Amino acid sequence: MPKRNYTRKRQRQETPEQRVENTKHPKISGDAAACNENTASGSNEAIATSRTSDGGVSSSNTVRTDHTASGKSLKFVGAHTSISGGPQTAVLQAVEIGAKAFALFVRSARTWKCPPLKPENVEKFKQVLTESGIDASKIVCHGSYLINPGSPDDSVLEKARAGMLDEMQRCEMLGIPYYNIHPGSTCGKITVDECITRIAASANDVLAQTFSVTLLLENMCGQGSTIGGKFEELAAIIGKIDQAYQHRVGVCIDTCHAFAAGNDIRTEEGWNTLMSDVDRTVGLKRVKAFHLNDSMFACGAHRDRHAHIGKGLIGLDGFRWLMNDPRTNNLPMILETEDSMWKEEIELLYSLCAN
Ligand code: ZN
Ligand code: ZN
Ligand code: ZN
Repeated sequence: MPKRNYTRKRQRQETPEQRVENTKHPKISGDAAACNENTASGSNEAIATSRTSDGGVSSSNTVRTDHTASGKSLKFVGAHTSISGGPQTAVLQAVEIGAKAFALFVRSARTWKCPPLKPENVEKFKQVLTESGIDASKIVCHGSYLINPGSPDDSVLEKARAGMLDEMQRCEMLGIPYYNIHPGSTCGKITVDECITRIAASANDVLAQTFSVTLLLENMCGQGSTIGGKFEELAAIIGKIDQAYQHRVGVCIDTCHAFAAGNDIRTEEGWNTLMSDVDRTVGLKRVKAFHLNDSMFACGAHRDRHAHIGKGLIGLDGFRWLMNDPRTNNLPMILETEDSMWKEEIELLYSLCAN
């Protein structure tokens, strides 16, 4: 069994999804953000807020990214970086770790009430991004975990849609092309089909009120009553989205979630089977981003806990297939691991490329 030593740095920061998993109420993990009333009101500290930086990022540090080992690669690896000092902080941290892509929240993920983006921060974000050399097409916003676009409760659903719309509008202000959400949860109160119908209605609602940002549905690990453990479910949602918005809908594949959902990507055959399943269901052309996370839990365990690349139960080989598959070329690939090892993890991933 691979030795995992990242818990010793837990004090630095956990990823939002790790925090969900690490709550004292594991039975509601995964569903927690979307179904728990207390959580939805922002009172549960287990749900993450905007990522905090530990001070390694300074606003005067806008050096162009030196994509040394990664320079010629068609792979665009990065991480979900911090917005602790405003959205521009995420760019600066991406530069610092040698990322060619990054993800960010566009407002606090802990609370519903957030002040609007400051115009000066929008300008700063754009300026720092230009200086960074990171292509804007490789930026993915991750939606708040409070949002359940398939909520069985109409008032919660209304709140979720307002939250999605606000976040998507922020993406458009910042020039971020992708907005990635967890599809939603039945909360054990409605059928999967009913939930899928609600999620699609939420998507239609927010896509109608925005004009450029593409909505990405993330595959989940199939825990509890969450939707998205199967790519068939993502395909069913997409199938209910209006024709007018079909070009603004895609999928984000999380490797930890795929593995925990039962896709054994440790072998080349398993990786290819996953890609075939994705193609058969949502279609490969829908895949716009990846989340690169190793898994603390076994294949098929339906538990969501991220491990550093190569330190979990997927192991390096699973990532070797991905890093050498032309089907993953030119797509943002985002680490959602704890931040202490991002630089090393990015270098490790590029070292897996055969050429
Ligand atoms: Zn996760
Ligand atoms: Zn996610
Ligand atoms: Zn993810």
